[in-house]
Amino acid sequence: MQGKLQGWFSGQRHQGEMKDLPIIPLTLVLPLEGLRKGFIKVNKLLSSSLTNNLFMMNLVPFTDLVDAAKCVVKALFIREKYMSRSMQSFCKTTAHSLQDLGMTNQELGVFKEIIETPVDDGISELDLPYPDLKEYIADTNIMMALIINGPVKSFCYRRLQYLSSKFQMHILLNEMKELAAQKKVPHRDFYNIRKVDTHIHASSCMNQKHLLRFIKRAMKKYPGEIVHIEHGHGQTLKDVFESMNLTAFDLSVDTLDMHADRNTFHRFDKFNAKYNPIGESILREIFIKTDNHIEGKYFAHIIKEVMADLEESKYQNSELRLSIYGRSRDEWDKLAQWAVNHRVYSDNVRWLIQVPRLYDVYQTRKTLANFQELLENLFLPLFEVTINPRSHPELHLFLEHVVGFDSVDDESKPEHHIFNLESPLPINWTDEDNPPYSYYLYYTYANMAVLNHLRRRRGLHTFVLRPHCGEAGPIHHLVSGFMLSENISHGLLLRKAPVLQYLYYLAQVGIAMSPLSNNSLFLSYHRNPLVEYLSRGLIVSLSTDDPLQFHFTKEPLMEEYSIAAQVWKLSSCDMCELSRNSVLMSGFSNRVKSYWLGPSYMREGPESNDIRRTNVPDIRVAYRHETLSEELQLITHAVRTDELNGMDEEDTLTMGPLPGQR
Ligand SMILES: [Zn+2]
Repeated sequence: MQGKLQGWFSGQRHQGEMKDLPIIPLTLVLPLEGLRKGFIKVNKLLSSSLTNNLFMMNLVPFTDLVDAAKCVVKALFIREKYMSRSMQSFCKTTAHSLQDLGMTNQELGVFKEIIETPVDDGISELDLPYPDLKEYIADTNIMMALIINGPVKSFCYRRLQYLSSKFQMHILLNEMKELAAQKKVPHRDFYNIRKVDTHIHASSCMNQKHLLRFIKRAMKKYPGEIVHIEHGHGQTLKDVFESMNLTAFDLSVDTLDMHADRNTFHRFDKFNAKYNPIGESILREIFIKTDNHIEGKYFAHIIKEVMADLEESKYQNSELRLSIYGRSRDEWDKLAQWAVNHRVYSDNVRWLIQVPRLYDVYQTRKTLANFQELLENLFLPLFEVTINPRSHPELHLFLEHVVGFDSVDDESKPEHHIFNLESPLPINWTDEDNPPYSYYLYYTYANMAVLNHLRRRRGLHTFVLRPHCGEAGPIHHLVSGFMLSENISHGLLLRKAPVLQYLYYLAQVGIAMSPLSNNSLFLSYHRNPLVEYLSRGLIVSLSTDDPLQFHFTKEPLMEEYSIAAQVWKLSSCDMCELSRNSVLMSGFSNRVKSYWLGPSYMREGPESNDIRRTNVPDIRVAYRHETLSEELQLITHAVRTDELNGMDEEDTLTMGPLPGQR
């Protein structure tokens, strides 16, 4: 251990002028600390004034530090503003640090908390706050300049490296103590702590074997049921399979052929085609769609079976994605009727609505004339039902279990347009070209923000934005994600963007990661950054994405944990931390979360943790909290010191290098 520590300290010595600093004999420090505290605080070791000086003066030149700190603070303020405007949550610890800088939300143009008044006359025009496009574009430009700024990049890269090493040290010093703390808790273990599958699509939430058995059962049970209309003639299930020359006996997982394999790597098109059982889109329509001739009966059945499995397991929960395409105004009502009529409901499940980015397809088919129509189809029913629940009774019921919006599609598709002030407004977007990712995200966000204000006034719950983001494609998707969404799915490309990764860490933006899914589509398992993110303290959770395509067992989420644990040698504490993260970032209500995590889960630091429920040792939670607080302190301290030093200098947040620098 000593060798490693010495290496760590001597590493600093090459970088600056303070070459003669003594190496601290850590062997002397450790046992003393350990004896006194019961566990050893890495912070105490690494952030003595000496080491802090090392960082401030040596690792990063002071001017670079101040410049970088200012940029980072600016970016955090931007996120805080957009979260507050849309009533999404922002990390408390980070908010406190920003508050200490003395800038209030008012100065940043954040809306005041509006006193809730019930809307009852239905006629009065409401003045609901909405985001400003000009400001958004300006903020995006600031963010884009920031993530490519050289000194800021170096600074963030080094902080991330430091966070990795610091965690390594924490593990070396405290691993046994964490394990002992877990053993001391009666009854609780990894199997009976709550975990949420934070990213999973309803249409592929069952595994292949399950779908196969279901299809066989349906063929035996309802052979004469008309399931499809072909050229004006009704087709029974028997007809459909006869036209394919198949009997129930012939069917196997191999003929179903829905598993992603090596041929789907970097081929999202091939992957999408796998959604069709036996390669036939008609079977997809019959079995895994909510809107078909049998009104989604089979799909509802199979989802209810998945729900029953979750309930039986008791501790596993899912946030299933259902699609709204925005092609027509009645999609919401149809979906809600499907859910209500078939009673597709479970305490273990919450819904997210995924909106595929397919405007160009609808526009070519002349289903839509402009982008505004898509937005109206998506949001008008929601405004109507919020103002008057009786206008769409089923939708009102269904929405109680919907927690937010997701944006989905192949991110690696090339984007021809850059979203700026010259971009056409949605009503003028009549191009056949698809709007870029940020355009979709901004307009979803903007409408959701207004809707949330209306819903809050009516005493209804609000929605959050949780898009697929950073799985592939350009890096600016992650900028939009950082500014507009409460948390994201995938985030793979953060590994190539140190500034953004550091920002996602400081703002504790949740990332639902699915390494098995990535392994089939975009990134081999051993290169997946999950374990690196986790060690640095980013809020990551494990999710399955598409069990139908990627998993083999009845418990896909456990399969995901199991493989991660074995490949990366995760400790029981790591696994429990991932599970706790998954509950924290999920859309389950506060009441449910406090039951699962402990009544004080909303507080900061170790007091937010209840090891009897989460099986996460307080030592781990304390380490995360102290590390985050210290990073924030380093940054805010640098900004404040600079403000004090340069009261007479021009006080602007510069993005470029400071004058007089190399
Ligand atoms: Zn997905």
